[in-house]
Amino acid sequence: MTDAPTGVPLQYIAGERRHGTSDDVLDVIEPATGKTIVTGLAAGPEDVDAAVAAAKEAFATWSKTTPAERSDLFAAWVRELNARADEIAEIESRNGGKAIRLTTGFDVPGSIDNVAYFGTAARHLEGQASAEYSADHTSAIRREPIGVIGSIAPWNYPLQMAAWKILPAVAAGNTIVLKPAEITPLTSLIFAETAVAAGIPAGVINIVTGRGPVAGTALISHPDVAMVSFTGSTAVGKQIGATAAGLVKRVHLELGGKAPFVVFDDADPEAAARGAVAGALINVGQDCTAATRAYVQRPLYDAFVERVAELMSGVRVGAVDDPATDMGSLVSRAHRDKVAGMVDRAREAGARVVIGGSIPEATPADGAYYLPTLIVDAAQDSEIVQNEVFGPVLVVLPFDTDDEAIALANDTPFGLAASAWTTNVYRAGRATREIQAGCVWVNDHIPIISEMPHGGYKASGFGKDMSAYSFEEYTNIKHVMTEITGAAHKEWHDTIFADPAE
Ligand code: NAD
Repeated sequence: MTDAPTGVPLQYIAGERRHGTSDDVLDVIEPATGKTIVTGLAAGPEDVDAAVAAAKEAFATWSKTTPAERSDLFAAWVRELNARADEIAEIESRNGGKAIRLTTGFDVPGSIDNVAYFGTAARHLEGQASAEYSADHTSAIRREPIGVIGSIAPWNYPLQMAAWKILPAVAAGNTIVLKPAEITPLTSLIFAETAVAAGIPAGVINIVTGRGPVAGTALISHPDVAMVSFTGSTAVGKQIGATAAGLVKRVHLELGGKAPFVVFDDADPEAAARGAVAGALINVGQDCTAATRAYVQRPLYDAFVERVAELMSGVRVGAVDDPATDMGSLVSRAHRDKVAGMVDRAREAGARVVIGGSIPEATPADGAYYLPTLIVDAAQDSEIVQNEVFGPVLVVLPFDTDDEAIALANDTPFGLAASAWTTNVYRAGRATREIQAGCVWVNDHIPIISEMPHGGYKASGFGKDMSAYSFEEYTNIKHVMTEITGAAHKEWHDTIFADPAE
């Protein structure tokens, strides 16, 4: 990849790279420096039509492949991805502003493991056992692919989000058109290309790179798209849910988060402080499950704030290609300004910024950097506590009783993830039961694994990514009921034919 070639094709349709047919030029930026990586033409409705047509054609044969055939192709896909892992990590790092240790240690191996997982999971797709629930009939369950899936992904983990959307859909026999975020399309395109290089037929996976209101709207409302799957903000998710409802399309929504991080007074204080800093700063805080609100029981509160500040001040913010860098830049200057605006408003509302709260001095002027930021003395009902910041910002608040901790943890519209820090098994049990979130960690915060589901409660959406549970989203359940006596007159016919002999 050279520094700024123009006119790179940003669409991947029917197994080939294509230029968008719109006249809308997208600049794909390296946010850590502000430099352009590539430019290309955005997808318009005609590109969406072409991609959906390719996916529809591919569905006719892909949906009839056996699980074993799909599994073998996924294994070959893993090999293709492993062969290009370094290149993909470098591009993900440049396009996302991510420190190279994050992409080589998390984004890329995590996504490849997802491909490996769904390659094996495809062979375990099953309905419940057949049986004679009525004496005269055998009932069986068929689990069938739905058709063409229209997926829309966010920019925070471009490769992983493409993987989470594409893999369960395609493993279950569907075909897909994915619209990545228009600012981070590069690794989604490579992901689709490696699938075809592995032997997955052209048209099974298509990528349209375009803006949400244009390409996204065209995709979700397309008559040949049978299901919509979306990961992104709650605000856009609401619009997409409303559109899908109007068209009676199945929809899966993975939305925003505001994860609480609850530290009880018997917790290991060092483990909790380190967990809070890592959990808040991973991916520069642009993680829907990031630790954003730490509630710390009063006896530990002062020492916790002090230790978190100390650990945060040791985090090295710098160039994304430097292996010594702990934290890269935010995804864009526009997003950095949004984060900075929320911190400024928190200050004005009376919160205290313990460290951070500004742009680091020694980073490129056109970069989108922001310092690790620790905030205390914020009100529970303030914007910084209630709304998603999606930046390297942790707010710490004290609590006194366990009842109060659970109530505070549940006191936002979101319910994606949470953690409880305690060495008391009963407290852990209560927290995992009563905190309303799709995932509750005990004495850790962030780890995900392919075998386990990810998805929200409340305004964080519904449906699951990853794991066998995601097949529930991407398959239809069909009941097949076969009469097994051969009798012309069935018992229930008595309701119509009073005399069976007639
Ligand atoms: P966003 O909602 O702004 O955009 C997400 C995608 O939707 C992008 O591809 C965008 O182009 C598209 N889009 C925007 N407007 C649209 C419209 N009107 N119609 C159709 N598509 C449209 O989100 P973002 O800023 O890219 O990502 C950050 C958000 O994603 C955060 O809220 C974060 O919590 C959430 N997120 C959630 C999960 C999860 O699993 N729950 C995972 C990652 C990110």
